[in-house]
Amino acid sequence: MELLTILNHCHRHRGFVYEHARFGADKTRIDVDVRPRQGSAAVCSGCHQPAPGYDHLPERAFEFIPLWGVLVFLQYRMRRVACRQCGVVVEEVPWSDGKHQLTRAYMLFLARWARKLSWKETAETFHTSWDKVRDAVEYVVEWGLAHRTLAPIRAIGVDEIQYAKGHKYLTLVYQIDQGITRLLWVGKERTIESFWTSSGSAAPRHCTSSTASTSSPK
Ligand SMILES: [Zn+2]
Repeated sequence: MELLTILNHCHRHRGFVYEHARFGADKTRIDVDVRPRQGSAAVCSGCHQPAPGYDHLPERAFEFIPLWGVLVFLQYRMRRVACRQCGVVVEEVPWSDGKHQLTRAYMLFLARWARKLSWKETAETFHTSWDKVRDAVEYVVEWGLAHRTLAPIRAIGVDEIQYAKGHKYLTLVYQIDQGITRLLWVGKERTIESFWTSSGSAAPRHCTSSTASTSSPK
């Protein structure tokens, strides 16, 4: 079975095709070329509507889930579109949010493992960096926040993780209601007050940084 057949089975996107897979020079990575399917229009990242093409950006590598310990990258030249509404903007691609080097599939994969292992263990297991695991968890949490309501939360826990050298901290906010534990927010160099601002909620009277629990659920 060929790698492209597996990719088409697990990670197929309308409007794009996998063209060619090859080892990188040192055989530690596999590069998979992606190109737009013939006749399929690019989608504007501003208004999410098809738009006429404008030009191409240089080829970019999007990191995918590693296979048998070998790093996998999707190689794609993103198109820019001339959208009547948004002007000249880069296209939207289904495998990436455009901001991260990691594909959505890889960020979901890492974030799922980061619920079972520590972030450090997750990074070591998949030969990636702690920063990428943090980005993945942050992405998934932000996606969750944008698609969920915070209304029923009755109890939160706040934890701080030190990272890098010096006094740099990540603030993690968990929902710790009975029967549910979920990570709600990851804040880099931010405070619990900015969690309430970013979530569009007012801090409850009985739940401020000084009164919130500082224990972190496992
Ligand atoms: Zn547009």
